[in-house]
Amino acid sequence: MDEALKYKAASCWERYGSAGDRAAMDGLAGEFLDFLTRCKTERETIAWAMEQGAAAGFSGDLSGGLAMIPFRSKALLLARRGSAPLSRGLRLITAHVDTPHLDLKQHPLHEECQVALMKTHYYGGIKKYQWLARSLALHGTVVTTDGRIIGVCIGESQDDPVFTVLDLLPHLARKQREETVEKAFVGEKLNLAFGHEPASTEDEAKVRQRVLELLHERFGIREEDLFSAELQVVPAGRARFVGLDRALLGGYGQDDRLCVFTATRAFLDAPAGEHTQVLLLFDKEEIGSDGATSAKSRFMEHALADILDAWEPGTALRHVLTRTKAVSADVHCPMDPDYQDVHDKYNSSLLGFGPVFSKFTGHGGKYGASEADCEYVAWFRALLAQEGIPWQMAEMGKVDEGGGGTVAKDLAVYGMEIIDFGPGVLSMHSPFEISSKADLYATVKAYNAFYRS
Ligand SMILES: [Zn+2]
Repeated sequence: MDEALKYKAASCWERYGSAGDRAAMDGLAGEFLDFLTRCKTERETIAWAMEQGAAAGFSGDLSGGLAMIPFRSKALLLARRGSAPLSRGLRLITAHVDTPHLDLKQHPLHEECQVALMKTHYYGGIKKYQWLARSLALHGTVVTTDGRIIGVCIGESQDDPVFTVLDLLPHLARKQREETVEKAFVGEKLNLAFGHEPASTEDEAKVRQRVLELLHERFGIREEDLFSAELQVVPAGRARFVGLDRALLGGYGQDDRLCVFTATRAFLDAPAGEHTQVLLLFDKEEIGSDGATSAKSRFMEHALADILDAWEPGTALRHVLTRTKAVSADVHCPMDPDYQDVHDKYNSSLLGFGPVFSKFTGHGGKYGASEADCEYVAWFRALLAQEGIPWQMAEMGKVDEGGGGTVAKDLAVYGMEIIDFGPGVLSMHSPFEISSKADLYATVKAYNAFYRS
């Protein structure tokens, strides 16, 4: 009886210990690492999701039951029509495709001390020192005035060069060592080493000139074309298994592509059900969800209005949204083995024990939080219990230690039931984030159960 009263979190490793589960887990992990390696920008991630959707029969033709509505290459809505009327509400999972990185400035290219440099402006919450002295790649898009759209990806193939942000040698870093971390690493010094060979020209800035020549040779662009470019600096190279047992997954951009991958996988694997199922991918979460492709934009309303017109004209959108059950699929911060002191150990999660519910987000007295109702939490517990899927309930850290937000509050305003629910990531927002192979597997199962509910 004592045991029956106690709550105990279930380990995914124990729950999924069978040979069949472990083989499936390994297969999924391999696919996830390939996905992380390929998708390092918003556009690359949306392109991947659209490929997956198209292969499963989703399209812009809304006369069928499988709708695919992209917006400006950075947001996407996929919907699978259910048997019940739309006014019964949706089963909706949303995740964000943007991750912290360095953007090239509008006038990026300059030359100092025989080195060509590209100036950057960082995007999202980074620890700046993590971007120094490591190999970096350049991904993005340049659009020319004659309408050419040029894809750029340098630094990923074995034959490609990479780039780097230079760091100060320790021998001359006495003053830097005495500074706070915030002051020791300044955004204006996050410049990308981009070239060194001088062009054969009489002009000054010969190295800069040589870089322009090479950009023209490779992409057919001129310096002015960099004004109409979105070029992002991201960590170069493959996502990898981590640990002798290959049980951890390491790679850039897992916040929130871990949820993009698991939610897309769960969505595409789900059969059509009673409720219409929706997968919604947003941009700009890391910088406050403003702008045309963000969760605060009208994209979701507009896309769902088109779907209502096609599938069920006359149904009011507000009736659909207020009866919708939703998941804000975003990563959580499990207990960090080296920084346990920032967590409340009674209200934290552990890697390997499944996706984590965060009933509310925000900071300091729940400021800026969206909080899920207890009724919705109870409904979700029952759903996961039915299939024996491990899950956890946790807060982000100690009460006044900091905090964070997700898109949950931007969708909660429509009156839908929504809760943050996603797998844990260690070294979050770093160039090499870490997740658990077991959590990846359990999260796909949990999201899939939600779509089937
Ligand atoms: Zn996130």
